[in-house]
Amino acid sequence: MENWTEFEGIIRLSVFAGVLILFSALEFIIPRKNRRHTRLSRWTTNVALLAVSTVFLRIILPVATISFAMEMGDRRMGLFNLIALPVWLEVVIAIVLLDFAIWFQHMMMHYIPPLWAFHKVHHADEDLDASSGLRFHPLEMVFSFGFKLAVIALLGVPALGIFLFEVILNAASIFEHASIRIPKKVDRALRKVIVTPDMHRVHHSVHMQETNSNFGFCLSIWDRIFRTYCAEPREGHEAMELGLDRRPPGNAAGLWWALSAPFRTNQAARTQSGSSEA
Ligand SMILES: [Zn+2]
Ligand SMILES: [Zn+2]
Repeated sequence: MENWTEFEGIIRLSVFAGVLILFSALEFIIPRKNRRHTRLSRWTTNVALLAVSTVFLRIILPVATISFAMEMGDRRMGLFNLIALPVWLEVVIAIVLLDFAIWFQHMMMHYIPPLWAFHKVHHADEDLDASSGLRFHPLEMVFSFGFKLAVIALLGVPALGIFLFEVILNAASIFEHASIRIPKKVDRALRKVIVTPDMHRVHHSVHMQETNSNFGFCLSIWDRIFRTYCAEPREGHEAMELGLDRRPPGNAAGLWWALSAPFRTNQAARTQSGSSEA
């Protein structure tokens, strides 16, 4: 583990690609929900959004979280650099605190209107599958990245903690969006600790009170502690409608829609289903 920094890029990419391929394959074998759109139309947009975000981030914030954490360590900055704990313990605490920070940031994205304007692009996906874990507006990615750098600076998170957290977060994001059927007993057991696809699907409901619940990415404990936990969608997983009740008109599965949506006016999205709460 000593020279992990040499391989961090390739390890992150391999785990990301491996998890994406695994859960996309499982979606064919144990699908959870009927789809409204073709895979091709949504995947093209969701993968393109990731590509645009990656390029955009390189230009706007050309720093890697791991080298930033190392720099903070060299300068002895942040909470962890002021106290002496065994490295493994610092890494575990750092991962848990980072997960809490991401939970908190996700809640802010919902309750602060200018942030919601960007985060709603993630919620506009009208089917959920592994590719939804890649679907974030490039400016939301910039905001999240800046937030993460601020947390790293404040805590002085060990670089190994950041590396492991990035790997876990990427894998968790793909897993929790996957449209896979997990036996209820297994789901219940997993949910005691981590966010499962059924738990996160509630968060993608068109009903606002369900959307404003289950903000967790890795650990499910934060939603339980802060009482933002919703166990099941009121219409059940098969019948529940995914997406947004109010959004700019047009095809939400398209790339141009996704990029331009934060700057356009919302309208009631579904008149045909009768589920609009507008
Ligand atoms: Zn959300
Ligand atoms: Zn989501």
